[in-house]
Amino acid sequence: MSITFQIAGATYTEGTEPCICEPGEYPDGNFTVCPYCQGKGVCPTSVSNLPELNMSNLNALDLLALINVGPVQSCGEWSAGALNQVHKNLMALMNTPKGERFEVEPIQEGNFFMGGRSKQYVDHRFNALLNIVVVAKQRGSEVFWA
Ligand SMILES: [Zn+2]
Repeated sequence: MSITFQIAGATYTEGTEPCICEPGEYPDGNFTVCPYCQGKGVCPTSVSNLPELNMSNLNALDLLALINVGPVQSCGEWSAGALNQVHKNLMALMNTPKGERFEVEPIQEGNFFMGGRSKQYVDHRFNALLNIVVVAKQRGSEVFWA
């Protein structure tokens, strides 16, 4: 499960991209035709004209809790009026010990491995979300996630 942060009013361009399958890869057991492209060799894509951010549920909910504006649940929105507070809180999180709490060490216990969140991962998500908030403010749009 994942959560995508999006700006209201985004438009999407439908297109195609090459499939990950190799020509002649199928049939090879379970499939007689590629399950992704049904043998066409290309898959449909949908590209937004505005920035978006996709994260795992767990990471998105942890980030929403740190930002602390609006619901900490798997779908919700920040109204255009709430974005100044989101912007302010996000800026405060970046480069502060509170924001550093979003970083998580990887965990390895026997065969169980959880990847954690590196500083690079955290910086990228903070910057991507900040960009979404700035663009939404410029447009007077809300940001929603689901
Ligand atoms: Zn394919």
